[in-house]
Amino acid sequence: MFEERSTEKLVVPNESCAPAEQKNPEEEVKKEILKKYRSLLRAAQAVIKTKEDKLRIKKAFELALAAHKDMRRKSGEPYIFHPIAVAEICLKELNLGVTSVVCALLHDTVEDTDISLEDIGNMFGTEVMNIIDGLTKIEGFVDNTESMQAENFRKILLTLSNDVRVILIKLADRLHNMRTLDHMKREKQLKIANETLYLYAPLAHRLGLYRMKTEMEDLALKYTDPEMYQDIVAKLKKSEEVRNRFINTFIQPIKKRLTEQGFSFEIKGRTKSLYSIYNKIKNKGVPFEEIYDIFAIRIIIDSDPEHEKSDCWRVYSCVTDFYQPKPDRLRDWISFPKSNGYESLHTTVMSPTGKWVEVQIRSRRMDEIAERGYAAHWKYKESSIETNIDEWLRKVRAILENADQSAVDFVESFKVDLVTEEIFVFTPKGELKNLVAGSTALDFAYEIHSDIGDHCLGAKVNGRLVPISHVLQSGDQVEIITSSKQKPKEDWLQFVKTSRARNKIRQALKEEKRQLAELGKEQFERKLRHLGLTFSEADVPKIQKFFQVSNIQDFYYKVATDVITNNDIRRFYKEETSGSWYSYLARRLKRRIEKSKPETPPLSELVKKTNRSEDSLIIGDDVTNLDYKLATCCNPIPGDEVFGFVTVNEGIKIHKTTCPNANTLMSNYAYRIIKARWTSREAIAFQAGIVIKGFDDVGIVNRITRIVSNQLKVNMKSINFDTHEGLFEGRMMVFVHDTKHLEDLMEKLRGVSGVISVERLN
Ligand code: MN
Repeated sequence: MFEERSTEKLVVPNESCAPAEQKNPEEEVKKEILKKYRSLLRAAQAVIKTKEDKLRIKKAFELALAAHKDMRRKSGEPYIFHPIAVAEICLKELNLGVTSVVCALLHDTVEDTDISLEDIGNMFGTEVMNIIDGLTKIEGFVDNTESMQAENFRKILLTLSNDVRVILIKLADRLHNMRTLDHMKREKQLKIANETLYLYAPLAHRLGLYRMKTEMEDLALKYTDPEMYQDIVAKLKKSEEVRNRFINTFIQPIKKRLTEQGFSFEIKGRTKSLYSIYNKIKNKGVPFEEIYDIFAIRIIIDSDPEHEKSDCWRVYSCVTDFYQPKPDRLRDWISFPKSNGYESLHTTVMSPTGKWVEVQIRSRRMDEIAERGYAAHWKYKESSIETNIDEWLRKVRAILENADQSAVDFVESFKVDLVTEEIFVFTPKGELKNLVAGSTALDFAYEIHSDIGDHCLGAKVNGRLVPISHVLQSGDQVEIITSSKQKPKEDWLQFVKTSRARNKIRQALKEEKRQLAELGKEQFERKLRHLGLTFSEADVPKIQKFFQVSNIQDFYYKVATDVITNNDIRRFYKEETSGSWYSYLARRLKRRIEKSKPETPPLSELVKKTNRSEDSLIIGDDVTNLDYKLATCCNPIPGDEVFGFVTVNEGIKIHKTTCPNANTLMSNYAYRIIKARWTSREAIAFQAGIVIKGFDDVGIVNRITRIVSNQLKVNMKSINFDTHEGLFEGRMMVFVHDTKHLEDLMEKLRGVSGVISVERLN
């Protein structure tokens, strides 16, 4: 698809400069094409089951040959070489079948020649037609901007939901283009190489096509940073002999022991890919000579599916008999395969020379899946693995359905899921969930249900209470704690890792913004009424320009959140619409004479009714279904003496009577104060702060948090300890049910040895 093709006829060399006895070059080309075609047929031998199969391939070849007849690749080769090579990659590296070979041969015909999709359908049936359609749709990068790439990536993923063969053939196409990049212009090379790094290599990785991904990345590096590429190639070559000697000595005892135990096996020393070495040098600043894991030892055993797991562990035991393992580097991807199907047992052990060496242990079957991924799954028909891939495709579809974001955002969040490592965690009932590494308790909550995520307050990980930002580890058992009071916050986006959580939070925030904008609109109109002005559609462009907002919704939102104040609005009408301003001045003068009261919107307008059933607060005279918020300045909790304050923008806020702001509020806005009292205690959590002072000694923080989390099962929101000259001061935000609950907690903390004082934070 990136080929710049010339459609000139084959150029026959000039009579005068061609020796008379030279063979006809057209004949030569024909011979060469036939040779390639026959090689393709040989590769297809294993998948050709019937005469019909062979005929279909022949028909596709002939059609492609005719269609690309006069076309040449940049290298000068006949164009048909390319589809043949792509078909061969489909067979040899992807284990695909006859239909895919047919499609690979035809993949550029509809895009580049007079053949229509309909023609293909008539000749080869709807299955082939649909795949070619998919391949044609994802053609054509227009330019190199980020959003174009993203848009294309999205298109590619959309085809995933139809037939995964589209993606696989596309990858084969790209791999061949990468292999034949030499003849392209420099800018073109850079563009194609970058796209490959950006989209295709991650995609190949996600489908478990490890070998293809590695080749793509290494080839891309060759063009994006030729100097470093050559440097690494040279250094690898130079160090090869020393490395081989080391590997041989290292594997000697293992080889001997495994043979004694009757294993049939193969041991390889595998060097890291050029691209990952490059990344380590570039991103971590490690010099080539100091990359300790530049190679890994791979032990592949011949073992049948029933015994492969226990056999792998037997090999592990044998390896660690000779070499000390690093306990935190053991990775068991046999019990928990990665969602791209990868299975293997990894350990890092200390060699006698003091060098850490990674050892990978796997069966032949696992090895093939590791190298060829999705393609190898078909061969082995492992149901559990297929479910994993299906599960992933299901997620892809879910994300695609929620197309309500820019393509760049979409890809950014999606790529995280594509390339990062995974962890495995459990629900309280023992159900397994996999998440990208670095996922937090909140990601887990969203993974279960968006409602659980939206109301997530905290979590219990392995029985211990943790904040929602807590990063999960493989093997954790996670229970989510929710509250109806909770709702998604902007800062949640800082610590979620999965695209699912990110999308859901964005959605919720957007909805909230929309609601606020509505409120802002009412506020704005009220203000205008008050000024005696009327809103006119004609003012909208002026408003946009004056307040530098992209649309009127944004303006309303800023009004609601006080970013745009009443003064700003006055200034706007004064400067931009002088006519209405003068009429405003006249009215204001009149009103001043009338000595009207200060502006206070009627209570009914400010207070939103709610149908919260479990309300525990009685506001005013026995009204329980008013919506309220708890003031963040004093964080009242049930049991506290409280009052309600009617705010202009945020409905009723509940403050403690001892709140530092209470005085000001009561004396300046007495008419906005309403009575409020708590009804009964209930299982809602409220925030309260505690200050703990004591002697700094090892373990005191631990003793305190243990009491809070484990003994009293109190949820901590944040905790902050400062030490100074042997004394410490801890500030802790906790979630409690009421004052009694808080008092109990404080009493318990006073009993901790080393604690001098415990006080509530105001
Ligand atoms: Mn192509």
